[in-house]
Amino acid sequence: MVSRVIPVDPFDLVVFGGTGDLARRKILPGLYRRFLAGQIPEGSRIIGAARTEMGEAEFRGHVGRAITEFVASAKRSDDTLRGFLGIVGYAAVDARGDDGWSELAALMRRDVVQAFYFSVAPSLFGGIAERLHRFAIATPASRIVVEKPFGRDLATARALNATLAAHFDESQIYRIDHYLGKETVQNLMAVRFANILFEPLWNARHVDHVQITVAETVGVGGRAAYYARAGAMRDMVQNHLMQLLCLIAMEAPYRFEPDAVRDEKLKVIRALQPVSPDDIVRGQYRGQAKKRGGAGNSFVEDVGDPASRTESYVALKVEIANWRWKGTPFYLRTGKRLRGRESEIAIVFKEVPHSIFEDEEDWRENVLSIRLQPNEGMTLSVMIKEPGPGGMRLTEVPLDMSFAEALGEEGTDIPDAYERLIMDVIRGNQTLFMRGDEVEAAWAWTDPITADWDRRDDRPRPYDSGSSGPEDALMLLHRDGRRWREIHE
Ligand code: NAD
Repeated sequence: MVSRVIPVDPFDLVVFGGTGDLARRKILPGLYRRFLAGQIPEGSRIIGAARTEMGEAEFRGHVGRAITEFVASAKRSDDTLRGFLGIVGYAAVDARGDDGWSELAALMRRDVVQAFYFSVAPSLFGGIAERLHRFAIATPASRIVVEKPFGRDLATARALNATLAAHFDESQIYRIDHYLGKETVQNLMAVRFANILFEPLWNARHVDHVQITVAETVGVGGRAAYYARAGAMRDMVQNHLMQLLCLIAMEAPYRFEPDAVRDEKLKVIRALQPVSPDDIVRGQYRGQAKKRGGAGNSFVEDVGDPASRTESYVALKVEIANWRWKGTPFYLRTGKRLRGRESEIAIVFKEVPHSIFEDEEDWRENVLSIRLQPNEGMTLSVMIKEPGPGGMRLTEVPLDMSFAEALGEEGTDIPDAYERLIMDVIRGNQTLFMRGDEVEAAWAWTDPITADWDRRDDRPRPYDSGSSGPEDALMLLHRDGRRWREIHE
């Protein structure tokens, strides 16, 4: 199989926050990998822009170190690294003042694709957007990429949208959710809409329930200050899990094009029912002494606030009020310091209406499991007869499609979500980016939930680091006669 890479036009990409953590770990190494893949056309430039005063050579040194640290050595070579650094430039700008902006303006070209990646705190978005215009840097064809968090509730998201809209048209704004850049997530759309097999079963008549799990083993790490105010609901559910839910639940768009896809996702968010407090479990991880094999501090120690009521785990049951999904719950859970690092969507189908086999105990449901990490891929579990002379005993076997295996050599080189999304920005394709109204609708659904916690001063349930989450989260499914899928270590 020959991989087809859609070519892009030469571009100027300015990375605001080019010296920051996200740029160092994801954006710059990702761009280097695309350079290696031959996808960055000649004449393109990548310009770091940040507050720190430094020269081009110093920034190139910083980029080189980031690539050495975050790109596998087998993929690097001195030649390609030199070639890549040759297209890297730097401009010191202050997003809160006018210093450096004229110099940045002088660097930019108007006859190539222009993209500006706002990899900075959202409080700086407005200052950057305004100066891109006042200094005549941006053109009506420029694109801007904005990072999460996109607000912390509906009011702040609206304000952020209004700030950006004052200077850019919606068609120029790319709100990034890196979950949408994952190979598997896009494959989910291919599997649903390019095969006749699944769609007839993709509804409440045949799907018993859906589980979406995003489990992390890490704690809050270096993001304690942000996380202490955000929590799992705002940091993960409102955006990433919600986007995954939309892709599972949406109707077929009339065409695979940006607004057609985003219109269908928006309809799903609008059909979400309010969630009753009985259908939500919040948790906070407890510490475990490192010398006993535990993962260290507790959540309250990590955020430095013994009275913190912020959740590091949340599980909830979500109902979608439309014809397709009425009666099929979607169970969502995400948390930190859990026993494994695993992201999975599981479509659990109903049992056959009547079993003709006596061996009832062996019966299991068909499950379509879509793994985002680790080992991106899909597995469909089906029941077959256990081989051998032991009579008609049933056993479950997986029909496994691991992308890395299925695609051979190429599969091992699946681009990281960030690289794919950045190239989509250069191509001008907004399909995998969130539209402003989608983000607002998601906050409109989340706000009553978080407001209720604040009103009741709700206290999250403790759970052990390295466990599968609070006991009460198990009950959320048990009381419906179901169980969570295992989180593997
Ligand atoms: P960071 O603190 O490491 O870097 C911030 C960058 O902003 C630095 O380059 C700094 O020089 C620049 N900056 C700060 N003040 C400035 C000013 N006045 N003018 C110009 N530049 C200024 O932050 P980060 O972790 O890289 O995160 C950047 C954005 O990406 C944030 O919105 C964050 O929420 C988001 N994000 C980060 C991650 C991550 O893994 N780091 C993940 C998802 C989203």
